[in-house]
Amino acid sequence: MKLSELFAKDKPTLSFEVFPPKTSDLYEKVEQAAHSIAALNPDYMSVTYGAGGGTSQYTISIAENIEKQYKVPTLAHLTCVSSTKETVHTQLENLKKAGIENILALRGDIPKEGRLAHDYTYASELIREIVEAGGFCIGGACYPEGHLESESLEDDIINIGKKVEAGCSFLTTQMFFSNDILYSYIDKLRKKGIFVPVVAGIMPITNAKQIYRSCELSGTVLPKRFIRIAERYGDNPDAMKQAGIAYATEQIIDLYASGVKNVHVYSMNKPDVAQKIQDNLSEIIKG
Ligand code: FAD
Repeated sequence: MKLSELFAKDKPTLSFEVFPPKTSDLYEKVEQAAHSIAALNPDYMSVTYGAGGGTSQYTISIAENIEKQYKVPTLAHLTCVSSTKETVHTQLENLKKAGIENILALRGDIPKEGRLAHDYTYASELIREIVEAGGFCIGGACYPEGHLESESLEDDIINIGKKVEAGCSFLTTQMFFSNDILYSYIDKLRKKGIFVPVVAGIMPITNAKQIYRSCELSGTVLPKRFIRIAERYGDNPDAMKQAGIAYATEQIIDLYASGVKNVHVYSMNKPDVAQKIQDNLSEIIKG
């Protein structure tokens, strides 16, 4: 199923993300986790892609197995910053053969040790090529607090417009911890004439140290309410997990209540986290 059809419906959607293993010995463990999440029957699942190509071969196989065994639509991520055109075209053929209809088209982070190839500069170039290949519903990434490399949020939004012009039909946000940031961002997108569905990316925090680091790297602001929770429960993994799930649940309820009807949970290969969030929303997601 193409995600554009899903987003066109009135019903709220709840979806989950998994990431492939870095090494082959972990494949089975990750696949099991992905299958447990798929068994929850979410609206769709996304499978990330290693920018340097490290785990790229697993993205398609994990997504293909989820689609075939659980009939859950999948969104395969694809990055281009270190890929040649040839690699991208091979990946597109493999995705088609695997029956995957949705791609999140990304540039990828520029590797510190330098790129492996220089065929692509921005995600919009990849989007154009996927459009030419035909048959896919294409999404792009967006950043409610601005992408780190952008001089301003306004500049970044102009570039988001270029991705939509290139053919991306929905956007998924980077994590954010204050919904007001997203509401103001969506307002800005609409004012710039960008009307594609915006899927809110929600990260349930289960490890306080990790989140401080990834927020620092991505420029995501942590609200005081969140910092208080992380400081109080950060050293107690079970309590932190419970508080992180509760915080994410509250964020999601507020999003749905405010008309943001598509929510994607960065479930980090944790079926128990996905399950608890889905249970917490069981009546709400009936629409
Ligand atoms: P782009 O849209 O190309 O933007 C990159 C930068 O260039 C931005 O600052 C933008 O403003 C600027 N820009 C864009 N177009 C132009 C232009 N025409 N002229 C001038 N400037 C321009 N990474 C992975 O490696 N694997 C994943 O699976 C993955 N999944 C992700 C999922 C989501 C929802 C998000 C939000 C991010 C994900 N990332 C992933 C991280 C992503 O690859 C990085 O954030 C990367 O740095 C930017 O990718 P992009 O597709 O947004 O790039």
